[in-house]
Amino acid sequence: MSSQLLNPGVRATATEVAQVLDKAEVPNLLFGWTALALVGIDQGFPEIDFVIADDKIEFAVWVLADAGYRLCTESECQELKEDRYPDTQDPVLIAADNRYHPIAYAHYHLETSDYLLSLFKQSDTLPWLPDLKAGPPGKRNPDLSLSTEPQLPPARDWEKGHHGCGGPWTELYPVNILNRHAYIEAVILLLCKDIDSSSKAEKLWRCMLASLSEFRLPQQRDDRLVKPEFRNIWHRYTLQSSRDVTLLEWDTEVRKLRDQMLADSQRPGIIRWLKKQFKAEARVSLAFDRKKHHEAVGEWRPILGGIGGFEHRHTYTAKELQGLRSKVQPLPPPNKRS
Ligand SMILES: [Zn+2]
Repeated sequence: MSSQLLNPGVRATATEVAQVLDKAEVPNLLFGWTALALVGIDQGFPEIDFVIADDKIEFAVWVLADAGYRLCTESECQELKEDRYPDTQDPVLIAADNRYHPIAYAHYHLETSDYLLSLFKQSDTLPWLPDLKAGPPGKRNPDLSLSTEPQLPPARDWEKGHHGCGGPWTELYPVNILNRHAYIEAVILLLCKDIDSSSKAEKLWRCMLASLSEFRLPQQRDDRLVKPEFRNIWHRYTLQSSRDVTLLEWDTEVRKLRDQMLADSQRPGIIRWLKKQFKAEARVSLAFDRKKHHEAVGEWRPILGGIGGFEHRHTYTAKELQGLRSKVQPLPPPNKRS
């Protein structure tokens, strides 16, 4: 089998960010298109989205600043709008799956590449999951996994002309991700939230579902792990893509699930989240100023010094990155992890 990575630099950069966050014990989870490429179709989009525990997200911003990642503070930045290409006439961009996006709590335009790094609060993005914890997920975690897991679907076979998954990141530092069924459930829930309230968000989640469903390899039988409340809806979605169920019928199922959740008074947090708009509530981007940054980094300095002595710099060279990775203790094999 011959395989080829669509955008290998995205993986390396995502793992670099994960290492910086892990060293500072910031609970983090890779989400968005780069994580989806591990469990669905890899489209090679240059976006790296991390979901961060709410109470650590400001600390994550300072940690990244101290590691040389420059927060975007541009008030007119296109990333502060949900549509990346509002004025485009380019048919490719008009139809691009990553055209619409939720607005991040903080974002970074990485200087050595065209990559975009975004941080999202867990309560805005994945509020139904237990609070994220620092470090790798335990092997019994039902939803979380690692980007290096050999059980992840293999990379696409280019010789057969298939599009498919990117394959596990075997050679790189392990990054926390959702496993395939948890990713499917997440996108269904996100669609439940936005189906009648944000047409832009709705399009994004539909594109993600398509990328998850088009992937047809034997590993798809893992979809039996999709939790019972989502299993029927997911099964019907895959039928819908083969035209046995109409989109209209399927949308009715999604609204039914949403209404069931809205009626579940046992879960007030989820009800509040379902009623939330697509935009994240808070963003540091506009409130950030350099003086405040220097004061804050000064305050954090003792902690940062204790986790590896970050230096102020904007980029790492390939050699430095190699050195950085070599210092990371490899994780024990999955079956040895607690
Ligand atoms: Zn920006």
